[in-house]
Amino acid sequence: MICPYCGHYDSKVIDSREVNDGIRRRRQCLRCDERFTTYERLQPASLFVIKKDERREEFHREKILTGVRKACDKRPLPSGTVENIVDDIEAELYQLGKTEIPTKYIGDMVMARLKSLDHIAYIRFASVYREFADITTLKEEVDTLANHTILHSADQLPLIPPDELAVTAKNQRRSRR
Ligand SMILES: [Zn+2]
Repeated sequence: MICPYCGHYDSKVIDSREVNDGIRRRRQCLRCDERFTTYERLQPASLFVIKKDERREEFHREKILTGVRKACDKRPLPSGTVENIVDDIEAELYQLGKTEIPTKYIGDMVMARLKSLDHIAYIRFASVYREFADITTLKEEVDTLANHTILHSADQLPLIPPDELAVTAKNQRRSRR
């Protein structure tokens, strides 16, 4: 296991415990002494995704992780949120007991979770995944969310956080000059 801090190839395990469906190990780098965590999990029978052009590709958890992480970048979400979403989706996919799953199905699962979590992350993910054809389609989606937020604002992060709003207003004033 390569140390994420200094790239050294060797570490020692200082703690290991069973979690849900795997084993969590705390490791310490033998060169820089930094600590990091690894998870070991059983690889269930292969799962394939069916892409838009009907090609099959082996399911990779990292692909969803990257997409969700990008969407949630710099959003005020508790640490571990992204991993939890992906864990959740992965578990649900394997529970389906199918060997092939359309990418659209997985994308919809991600969107459903982001939508109830954070609208900015949702819009970011949706704009990549759904490839909004034009700005009108995107605006419609944002409007729908904005209306929804007014009705259910209690459990949602603000669509535009107050500080970003201030920055936007400032930029607008500047560009008007
Ligand atoms: Zn190190």
